[in-house]
Amino acid sequence: MNPWNTPEREALRTAVESFTRAEIAPHIAQWEDDGELPRELHHKTAKAGFLAIGFPEEVGGDGGDMIDAGIATEAMMAAGGSTGLQASLFTHSIATPHIIDSGNADLIDRYVRPTLAGEMIGALGVTEPGGGSDVANIRTRAVRDGDHYVVNGAKTFITSGVRADFVTTAVRTGDEGHGGISLLVIEKDTPGFTVGRSLRKMGWHCSDTAELSFEDVRVPVENVVGEENSGFYLIAQQFVGERINLATQSYATAQRALDLAAAYAKERETFGKPLIARQVIRHKLVEMHSRTAAARALTREVVERAIDTPKSDPTLILDAVVAKNQAVACAEFVVHEAVQIFGGMGYMRESEIDRHYRDARILGIGGGATEVMKDLAAKLLGY
Ligand SMILES: Cc1cc2nc3c(=O)[nH]c(=O)nc-3n(C[C@H](O)[C@H](O)[C@H](O)COP(=O)(O)OP(=O)(O)OC[C@H]3O[C@@H](n4cnc5c(N)ncnc54)[C@H](O)[C@@H]3O)c2cc1C
Repeated sequence: MNPWNTPEREALRTAVESFTRAEIAPHIAQWEDDGELPRELHHKTAKAGFLAIGFPEEVGGDGGDMIDAGIATEAMMAAGGSTGLQASLFTHSIATPHIIDSGNADLIDRYVRPTLAGEMIGALGVTEPGGGSDVANIRTRAVRDGDHYVVNGAKTFITSGVRADFVTTAVRTGDEGHGGISLLVIEKDTPGFTVGRSLRKMGWHCSDTAELSFEDVRVPVENVVGEENSGFYLIAQQFVGERINLATQSYATAQRALDLAAAYAKERETFGKPLIARQVIRHKLVEMHSRTAAARALTREVVERAIDTPKSDPTLILDAVVAKNQAVACAEFVVHEAVQIFGGMGYMRESEIDRHYRDARILGIGGGATEVMKDLAAKLLGY
């Protein structure tokens, strides 16, 4: 049986679609204007049992695996959600997995459980004004002073950073290079921690994005995640899940853009006939469909493999990278063609496709930019 179509998963898909139609789609344009999501949405999503799909129940998650999480992503996009909304509503999917994997019960109780219950918001702070791709070169420094680390430095482009109650932050505790990085959970109200302005962006408007600065911020040593100086390894391990998730968001974006464009082509008439009556438009739609189907098949295969494969397995790392790049290329092609089919209406803020077009542009930059992913793939393939 196809694991994506079991009766339980069809029920999950229907439930997430209904939730999205009722609680998200009617409000998303307003949240885009506001530049952020209301906290209330985190509570509602948790209450509905959809905030922590794929997270273990032992740490307060909703259970299920990566297929369930993939179905929720597909369903939310299909019913009128957006990747910007998902980035901000589910920032915990990049902010908490390191904490969960570390098995630190105290950190799990203080940060993971309340976040998965929709009561706290977490963010992940890796990227710095000096660069994001070269994670091994981060400069924010944490110096041990008794029972605390004293943190100085800055982060930028941090998703949910304006609203976050805590930031899982990459800091340099050791020498230069990847071996000197640790992850520290830093709380928002800690003296010296400043959240700068909300950054204005091309897309992902409903997702707040912040610059963070740290000036002599004292963080208790209990807040280190895993072993000191193991941060690069922890970050790299979680990249696999993040990249697979971005691949899923990419083909789900493409599917939504295709559906919107096909519906519009049926209703819009030019020169006395509906657009869909033109072979050139039908061929466009078929090409959009074909690339989306290929990206979905590839990504779903990687999702299925990821469930039973260690995150450090080089073949899985390679598969995640390849799926991300393929699915991103698919999304970029499909949203471009979809806007073209919509004509002038595709360029209007009032059309949903405008949002997907702008939102799709970040997918090939965040979570490992396309060029950097190709370099990694070349290394893993031995080229
Ligand atoms: C909306 C948004 C949300 C984000 N959210 C977060 C977040 O929550 N947490 C976080 O830590 N970061 C976040 N980021 C940062 C994101 O991860 C980085 O933007 C990304 O890693 C790229 O880093 P950079 O922007 O510094 O680009 P750079 O590293 O400066 O790269 C610039 C360009 O050069 C290319 N390039 C770099 N190195 C090479 C090379 N060796 N060979 C060839 N080409 C190369 C890259 O592919 C890219 O196209 C976010 C960014 C955005 C825009």
